[in-house]
Amino acid sequence: MLSSPLTQPLAPFDGKAISAAARGFLAQPHHLLIDGKWVEGPDRIVTCDPATGLPLAEVHAGGAAQIDAAVSAARAAFESGWKSASPAQRSACLNRLAQLMRRDAAVLGELDILDNGMPAWLAGYTAEGGADLFEYYAGWPIRIEGVTTPPPPLPGAPEALTYTLREPLGVIGQIIPWNVPLSMACMKLAPALAAGCTVVLKPAEETPLSALWLGELIREAGFPPGVVNIVNGIGDVAGAALVSHPDVDKIAFTGSTQVGKHIIREAAADLKKVSLELGGKSPVIVFPDADLDLAVPALAMAAFFLQGQNCMAGTRVFLHEDRHDDILARLIAYTRTMTIGHGLDPASQLGPLISREHRKRVADYVASGIAQGATLACGGKALEGPGAFFQPTIFTHCHPDMRIVREEIFGPVMTIQTFDDGDLDAIAAQANQSDYGLSGSVWTRDLATAHKMVARIRSGHVSINCHSAVGPNIPFGGYKQSGWGREFGKEGLDLYLETKAVTVRL
Ligand code: NAP
Ligand code: MG
Repeated sequence: MLSSPLTQPLAPFDGKAISAAARGFLAQPHHLLIDGKWVEGPDRIVTCDPATGLPLAEVHAGGAAQIDAAVSAARAAFESGWKSASPAQRSACLNRLAQLMRRDAAVLGELDILDNGMPAWLAGYTAEGGADLFEYYAGWPIRIEGVTTPPPPLPGAPEALTYTLREPLGVIGQIIPWNVPLSMACMKLAPALAAGCTVVLKPAEETPLSALWLGELIREAGFPPGVVNIVNGIGDVAGAALVSHPDVDKIAFTGSTQVGKHIIREAAADLKKVSLELGGKSPVIVFPDADLDLAVPALAMAAFFLQGQNCMAGTRVFLHEDRHDDILARLIAYTRTMTIGHGLDPASQLGPLISREHRKRVADYVASGIAQGATLACGGKALEGPGAFFQPTIFTHCHPDMRIVREEIFGPVMTIQTFDDGDLDAIAAQANQSDYGLSGSVWTRDLATAHKMVARIRSGHVSINCHSAVGPNIPFGGYKQSGWGREFGKEGLDLYLETKAVTVRL
């Protein structure tokens, strides 16, 4: 089952490692969660295991009527209680949900492995990381507070008081992608619920399963009916109905820049508020003095983590021309040791791409790189056998006009460019030559170089000697076409709050 990505074809996964809990879940009906009840939808989505191509389950899919019912339930839950629930009530629900996620972490991780293809080592973090997020945001409700500020001049009233209130924004439509399904659901739900908002969540059609298990935990945790509604469905149908629904106050979206732009245009009809976490093409800049024992495996992981299906992926690598050949040789050697296989095999470092259709897109990008004159240094091929596996791929002699350098591939493709002894502004100009600005990293032992580069990179998240270390308290989001707003931390909560100024004549 397990093979070097550069040699062996994969045998089909025989499924023996699937737990009884996951098997039982897969065999049961998969309904929509509306107003605290599991209800049928008009359509069905068949979701597959991308490592085998085999169907896992048939999932009910909602249309405009189910979105309307879910929005009504969310509105009723908002007005009738959740917006005015005490901080202690909200925190208690969030903390209970975190505990339940820890209880069920193994099966939650397993569902994401099966549905998305992610390797077990990563799935091990996702439920625990989701629980961490709910616990972090459980600490916020009691801390949501306004300010007092000098009042405006009121004729005939020498004394007055002005203060601000932070109020929950209302009913939120949340639309998420397939690349880290459970984490995406938790990232969206935790701050919105802490702020006092109610939610209609539309998971990605490729990965509908873990959100449904989470929905059952939300019921068990004691959230009032209608506070969280989960409507699986097709983006153009259920997603579009959510975006155009007149009683939704805000859309919080994570996904492609293309769909993000479409959502903005649709939301303009009633000026719905929108926050966006979109694509990336992040730079990784390696200075000649970098610790290569640290950097080489980390560079490979930055590019190939989640098979490159990761908005933060470090896909544009910049090497000093004097170190290019040495670092490239080490990168190729390391990449050849990376194990690829079914996510349930604990030895797999990398899993499959999300689908064969997506693999075709990645292969087309590789072909375009070769056609545009880049040198294929390693990988570049689909693995034979079932599933949607693709070799981790490195291109050298890349330049900024190539599609593989400009566009987000969302696959395991690293592009390498070089820089010379020019000043840091020139290196930063190369690194900033992108429509995106989500992440990035700088590798050097020299503190001054590191911090000067950080100041020059136009990106929402830049790391030094590591790549994209995220946490519940660390703001995350994009400059340029990588998005609007920041998730995580206090800024993540602000996405779901309005400010009301109040002046009192005394
Ligand atoms: P996508 O095609 O944009 O889809 C994202 C979500 O939007 C899915 O639930 C999709 O439904 C839905 N959708 C599609 N068309 C819609 C429409 N017309 N109206 C409303 N909703 C619609 O993205 P993806 O392929 O799932 O995910 C990959 C992208 O996500 C990459 O570009 C990646 O960079 C980005 N991403 C960004 C971040 C970040 O934090 N910045 C994190 C992860 C991923 P369907 O599932 O039915 O298509
Ligand atoms: Mg699937």
